[in-house]
Amino acid sequence: MRAEIIAVGSELLTPLRMDTNSLAITDKLDAIGVEVCIKAVVGDNRADLARMFHHAVNDSDLVILTGGLGPTADDVTREVVAESLGMRLVEDPAILERVRERFTRRGWTMPEINRRQAQVPEGAVALTNRNGTAPGLWIDRPDVMVLLLPGPPRELMPMLEEAIERWLRPRSDAVRLYRRVLKITGRAESHVEEQTQPIYARWAEENPPIVTTILAALGQIELHLNLRSADEARATRRLHDALTSLVEVLGDHVYSTDGRKLEEVVGSLLRERGLRLATAESCTGGLLASRLTDIPGSSDYVDRGVIVYSNQAKVDLLGVPAALIAERGAVSEPVAQAMASGVRERANVEIGVGITGIAGPGGGSDAKPVGTVAIAAAYGERVEVRTFHFMGGREQVKFQATQAALDMVRRLLV
Ligand code: AMP
Ligand code: MG
Repeated sequence: MRAEIIAVGSELLTPLRMDTNSLAITDKLDAIGVEVCIKAVVGDNRADLARMFHHAVNDSDLVILTGGLGPTADDVTREVVAESLGMRLVEDPAILERVRERFTRRGWTMPEINRRQAQVPEGAVALTNRNGTAPGLWIDRPDVMVLLLPGPPRELMPMLEEAIERWLRPRSDAVRLYRRVLKITGRAESHVEEQTQPIYARWAEENPPIVTTILAALGQIELHLNLRSADEARATRRLHDALTSLVEVLGDHVYSTDGRKLEEVVGSLLRERGLRLATAESCTGGLLASRLTDIPGSSDYVDRGVIVYSNQAKVDLLGVPAALIAERGAVSEPVAQAMASGVRERANVEIGVGITGIAGPGGGSDAKPVGTVAIAAAYGERVEVRTFHFMGGREQVKFQATQAALDMVRRLLV
């Protein structure tokens, strides 16, 4: 079954709002093995929507539209769909009553414009909206199924689930999408591609194929393995074997094969080993501590984090020698090392991390350009220290520095 999603709303074409509905819809469709082949975002414009919808009904077995079902003049989805499919719009008294009742309950009278929401293409089935006024609509034709859902996510979700259970799951075949995600840090995308392509290229020839995509994100690379199969046990086994052979070549660059984030992986390692950690951050301004403490239960292993932005703070709070800073510069390996050891000793924990760098845009020099970050991780008497040169703006440098710091801790523990 080929599905297409059309998100309707001019706000979705601005930088201010994102279409997230299609992600939630795709997730639900994946789970019943319906493949989303195309998705589109269209403004509140009759002609544009009519054009997109016309293509969609001709190309796909299922078209899901979200948004544009409100009562105002810019909500055109219902009309465009009805017209395009040659269906007459008729007022449904039961829906009208329900919409009116929602207003009455709040002590208001229903504005006349809300009558539009009771208009149903003749032959469509209305889906009750528990969290709003706009009903959903289900149109079942021999050649295509069309589902109209309101834009607000909390209105859409229960109706989507209802439509899936009533009409889509019974018709979907046993084929499901199975996906595994492998995450790597500390490697460039092209290195990962070079190492893994000869392996995953073979899977694409198998039946059914495992489709692999490499996604480079800030500070990490992800490999997504997708397999559509009717045989759950076999699919799970094949994906497991596939992951294993990738981990074999990528080694300890792989930090996660189960979707977990790096801060979660590090947290689990600390908890398993009964270790506690303290952080001393300069250029990352607490981001490392923030990421670590985003994980529920992190109080088991995070002791404290200090933000030592100024040189004086590094001296006062961590005992970094002022002479060392003067001699080697605040952004230097010895200072990062002194920060890591200083915070570790003061917190009386096993692991200390120190980060000091130049996040930019100012402050760089030829010797230490923007993006230079020295990171140290101290574990007992062992201290690892490295200097990184990150690319990107301030936020990117900060994030990558925390990613590298987490990875250094991870490597100390595995
Ligand atoms: P509408 O049903 O077009 O009146 O949409 C009402 C509200 O739902 C919009 O103002 C958005 O905040 C939200 N919305 C609409 N479409 C989407 C979408 N595709 N993803 C996420 N939110 C949406
Ligand atoms: Mg809208």
